[in-house]
Amino acid sequence: MNTTPPNPIPFLDLQPVYRRSQAAIDAALARVAGSGWFLLGKELAAFETAWAAHCGAPLAAGVANGLDALHLSLLALGVGPGDEVIVPSNTYIATWLAVSQCGARPVPVEPDPQTFNLDPARVEAAITARTKVLLPVHLYGQPADMDALAALAARRGLKLLDDCAQAHGARYKGRPVGGLADLSAWSFYPGKNLGAMGDGGGVTGADAGLIETIKVLRNYGSRIKYHNEVKGFNSRLDEIQAAVLAAKLPALAADTEERRAIAARLLDGLAGTGLQLPVVPAWAEPAWHLFVVRHPEREALQARLAERGIGTLIHYPVPPHRQPAYAELGYGEGDFPIAEAMHREVLSLPLWPGMSEAQVDRVIAAVRASV
Ligand SMILES: *Cc1c(COP(=O)(O)O)cnc(C)c1O
Repeated sequence: MNTTPPNPIPFLDLQPVYRRSQAAIDAALARVAGSGWFLLGKELAAFETAWAAHCGAPLAAGVANGLDALHLSLLALGVGPGDEVIVPSNTYIATWLAVSQCGARPVPVEPDPQTFNLDPARVEAAITARTKVLLPVHLYGQPADMDALAALAARRGLKLLDDCAQAHGARYKGRPVGGLADLSAWSFYPGKNLGAMGDGGGVTGADAGLIETIKVLRNYGSRIKYHNEVKGFNSRLDEIQAAVLAAKLPALAADTEERRAIAARLLDGLAGTGLQLPVVPAWAEPAWHLFVVRHPEREALQARLAERGIGTLIHYPVPPHRQPAYAELGYGEGDFPIAEAMHREVLSLPLWPGMSEAQVDRVIAAVRASV
């Protein structure tokens, strides 16, 4: 039998979020088009102010994408060749690439197998005389244990940069993620919880000198046109993306609440199936960028859900230390067993603002029939 089920449920549908803010987005696009000013203008300045406020951080700088947000942050924090940066063994490869782009070495540390986030107890053992920065990731939108990591960084004289690319709207002990570290790096890739209509990124923080350094680095190392203080980059958040992001920002809080309601319904409906469900510490309010379950026969489960018309994805199939890109570090199978087991077993279920309760219930029924 090869019948496609009616009304398949995609893994992600970005259209409801557009439609919610459509009037503001369309007006923003027209405003920028008519302004004749496309880079480093008032749309960027307005979005930076709004985004900093949303994150509970005094300052923000827009950049071209999330990878650059991490890279320029590490450079601003003084990371260079010979330095080490502590990263999760389980993350999207961008976290590691930003470290490599500075000429520094990513030093992987295993996650807590329950929360999938960097385990502060294991971080300390990986610190050496070369360590400069701790770089936790709020993976899947679940905040990492920032107080423990900040205390460790302070005690060992290290800087703290968090990869917030999946955590727009997440809260840690009631405080928004993005104002909890020396610098916080954001991606506004279209599929992120606050997404541009193209690439985008940003950095939030409290230190005016660090944010200014990022603004200089993003624009050819120059503060005054044609005067270059350092060897910079071209990494600007353009006016169209900044205007779109500012137009979408007012809906983010409601979108996040909707993600939480969908996650709660999934957690409830999938209890008792034997699947490992997301575990949320008492102090965490995740942004639910992804709803990730674990199953020992992940491929079979994914295939059975596909037969029932349910779209799923794997975040991520191969850990960074097993990628050909990182062969140079000399790691092999078994070096980071917690990350390797995760990558074999994780499966992300559909979750997006605008997903109907009926769609959520169909996902639940399909999973219950497939495990
Ligand atoms: C998306 C993502 C990035 C990179 O963001 P881009 O805007 O695609 O460059 C970095 N880290 C994590 C954890 C991500 O999910």
